[in-house]
Amino acid sequence: MIDAQTEVFGIIGNPVRHSLSPAMHNAAFRALELNAVYLAFSVENLPAAVEGIRSLAVRGVNVTIPHKIAIQKLLDEMDLTAVALGSVNTVLNRQGTLVGYNTDWIGAVGALEEVTAISGKRCALLGAGGAARAVAYGLANAGGDVVVINRTEEKGRRLARQMGCGFAPLKALPDLRADILVNATSVGMEPRAEECPVPPEWLRPGMVVMDAVYAPPRTKLLQEAEARGCRVVEGLRWLVRQGAESFAIWFGTRPPEDVMERACRESMLRAHQDAPHRAAKER
Ligand code: NAP
Repeated sequence: MIDAQTEVFGIIGNPVRHSLSPAMHNAAFRALELNAVYLAFSVENLPAAVEGIRSLAVRGVNVTIPHKIAIQKLLDEMDLTAVALGSVNTVLNRQGTLVGYNTDWIGAVGALEEVTAISGKRCALLGAGGAARAVAYGLANAGGDVVVINRTEEKGRRLARQMGCGFAPLKALPDLRADILVNATSVGMEPRAEECPVPPEWLRPGMVVMDAVYAPPRTKLLQEAEARGCRVVEGLRWLVRQGAESFAIWFGTRPPEDVMERACRESMLRAHQDAPHRAAKER
């Protein structure tokens, strides 16, 4: 029941209409009977949106592409890990003081740690964008021995340098004998779900393989990895873990992650079922 006491949360970004965060957080609010609502805000003018958060007393937001870096200078305080990462995905409105956090890296590490320890493990990380940056930070902090692999070498080398990791070209992946492989590129994402970021024959039994891509939940990479005896971690687990960490920052308590994950899967299923109707409408 939305009334005059309802607290407002949301996600700001552009595009945001595909975001699973509203379904995920609203499901948690309902399960815990919180008088709160979570909305998707498509934002082009970031300074105006941040002023809106302040003046309308929005309690908290998630931040997504393309605002994760630019929002930093508009906030009043920053958590130290967000400073180290140079990227904010969560804002808490603490009685008018806007505080920036980053939960992407904890989400990634938390999802991986559900199946493996990280300390001392050889980790190969594909990508050098925002997601890869969060993973590199998380893995390095958890004691992993991280090697970055990226299509654009210069970007990959820069990330490796900043995070104190190694760099290698893709062709060197088999020689790395990685224990953990993380895909933090967008390769394999719908509508190009048949693509795999590495030749499948390079996946070894016993390897732990995590994909950042969550649409589809079982990517081509994860299917190939599972078929070769690897343990796999879906991008959806990472998404839910980072969402749960944001929730904990806003409410000081853990949300029901199973409820959040179910809501994400149902929302994706609905989007698939609605796709033909949407396409027909657009024609
Ligand atoms: P980004 O900043 O745009 O970085 C994209 C990365 O993918 C770059 O390293 C890029 O390499 C690489 N790439 C793109 N197309 C490629 C191709 N055809 N072959 C090889 N490399 C390619 O994007 P991002 O924000 O890091 O997001 C990456 C993926 O992670 C997206 O699918 C996003 O949805 C997902 N993600 C998931 C979560 C989660 O919670 N599960 C969280 C964050 C992001 P170049 O440098 O050579 O361009």
